[in-house]
This record gives sequence, C-alpha cells and structure tokens, in this order.
Amino acid sequence: MAYEMTFYPWHATFKNKIISQFQEQKLAHALLFSGPGYLGKFDFAQLLSRLFLCEDILAELPCGSCAACHLLAAGTHPDYRLIEPVDSKLIKIEQVRELIVWLGQTAQRSGFKIVIINPAQQMNHQSANALLKCLEEPTPNTLIFLITSQPGSLLPTIRSRCQQYSFHKPDQEMALDWLMEQYPEISKPKNLLDIADGLPLAVVNKLDKDYLARRLLVVTALITILTAQVNPVAEALKFSKHEMAEVFETCHAILADGIKFKLTRDLAVVKNSDMALEIERVGEACSNDLLFAAIKRIEADLKVLNGPTNPNKNFLLESLFVDLGSGQSNQILEFGL
Ligand SMILES: [Zn+2]
Repeated sequence: MAYEMTFYPWHATFKNKIISQFQEQKLAHALLFSGPGYLGKFDFAQLLSRLFLCEDILAELPCGSCAACHLLAAGTHPDYRLIEPVDSKLIKIEQVRELIVWLGQTAQRSGFKIVIINPAQQMNHQSANALLKCLEEPTPNTLIFLITSQPGSLLPTIRSRCQQYSFHKPDQEMALDWLMEQYPEISKPKNLLDIADGLPLAVVNKLDKDYLARRLLVVTALITILTAQVNPVAEALKFSKHEMAEVFETCHAILADGIKFKLTRDLAVVKNSDMALEIERVGEACSNDLLFAAIKRIEADLKVLNGPTNPNKNFLLESLFVDLGSGQSNQILEFGL
C-alpha cells in the first residue's frame, strides 16, 4: 500500500537540500524550522523523520510497508520521540530530562534516532536550558527537529546551535493549484485562500464548510455595534459557543480590510473581497484612529487568547464589543494594552 503522506510543493527546496545532506551524512544534528503557522512545518519534520527511519533505503517517500514504517504509524517506533506540551501549555523540564536519558541510549533499530520538539517556544526557561546541553554536546546518530512560529522567543543560544530553515508562504499560483488539486470539492478556493492570508493549509484546517456562514455572523455583529444599533453585551453573548480566537481573527481581518479599503478605495487589496459592501460600511462607520486602535487591541487580545493563561473568553469579547460600541479609540486601546 502506498504511503499517503507526501511533501507539500512549497517544501521542495528545503526537502531536496535536507535529504541530500542526510544521504551524504552531512546533516546538522539539530534543525530549526521557523515561520508562521499553517505552512506544514510539523508535517514536514514528521515526513522527514519517517523517511529517514524507513528501512527501505531506496524509497523517496516512507515506503509505508516496512517494519519501521508500521511502528511509526502505530506510534511505537523505539527510535522516534515527539515532545509536545502536555496538560498545561508548556513543555516541562521532566519531559526534557526524560528525553536526555533516551538520547543517551543506543538506537534499537536502524542506528538512528529522531526527536521532534513542537512547538519549541513552549519550553520554559528550565526546559530550554536542559535542551541546550543536548545541542552543545550532541549524542551521535541523533537528529533533533525544533518547530516554532516564534523563533524570537527561543534562547539565542538554542537558535545558534541549530541549522535554521525559515519557512515562507507559497506563491499564490502554487497555493491555489495545490488547493484545487487536493480539495476539488472546495467552492470559492481563491476567495478562501485570500481570507486565509494565502496559506492553503489554513484553508483546509481552519475554514470548514460553515466558515463563511460564521464569518457573516461576526461581520453583521460588528456592523451593528459600530453603527450603535444594538446592545454590545447581547451581541457578544451570541458568540459564547464559538471558537473565540476565530471570532477575534475575523474581527481583525474585517477591520483591517476596512482601513485598507478606506485608504486605497481598492478592493484588490482586501482579504474578504467578496464582502465589499460590508467592508465599505465598516470604513464609513469608523474613523481611521478607531480602526487602527481596534486592530491593535484585537492583536493584544489574540495574544492573551492564544497564550498560556486561561482568560475569560466571553468577557474579552464583551469588553471589545462594548469599547467598539463606544466609538472612542482611546478607550479601545487602553483596555488592550
Ligand atoms: Zn518503510
């Protein structure tokens, strides 16, 4: 049976480089994959791990049928480890200590061991320092992948010990071709790709078939709040069961489109180009100051929502809507910062 995972076309350059270095036994012992989310950095590291551990040495993709491939698929390969945050949002020192012990042991199968640390910025200071020792004094025949969307949050000493690969989004043609080929059932692929900031994996993973309907709810709420027709608290309540980061991201995208359209009068520059009328209304309802303040505020809120604390999500949205309804840019900014 053919193995179903394949490399994404936008990884081709990195893939060729890393595979040839591996074959020539010149690969660094630690690789850092950085770049925005939804570029498939983790998938890439995982597929490389499977390929390097596959026991069919001539395979260009993991063969899917050797013993190593079966063990990896079952999650029981003894020479592969995935280190991720457990229960809390942090990678804990105990996990790194356990990893160090494992790295010190001899590989059980092909003689090669691979670990993926994802996301690497979730290591706390203690964990990062412990890992640093592994990077400074690498054990032979091991490969460590570190994945991060925030390379600036890693210890500089960790970064400098890794071979760094900085991932960028694919050009639009490649992204659209891939999306239409892999997901021919998606309607409006170009529209969704624009909304997803040109990231095809974000289209696939974030924008399910109900996304456009959910986006419409958010946009409608925003417009009614900005034109002071409703009680913002009641509007916020409507979203209590929604994925809150998505609600904030949608607000951000629409308000950002509002300011872009206001400044350029050009629909080609907006992401939600199918919502021209709504974006124009947002622009008309708000001053530039208000839009800029709201965008900054939402970015601060999103950091809180995606951070390690456990904020009261409904309260965050309620506060945002109340402040947006007030129409005072100072008030909007003060809460978020
Ligand atoms: Zn195999």
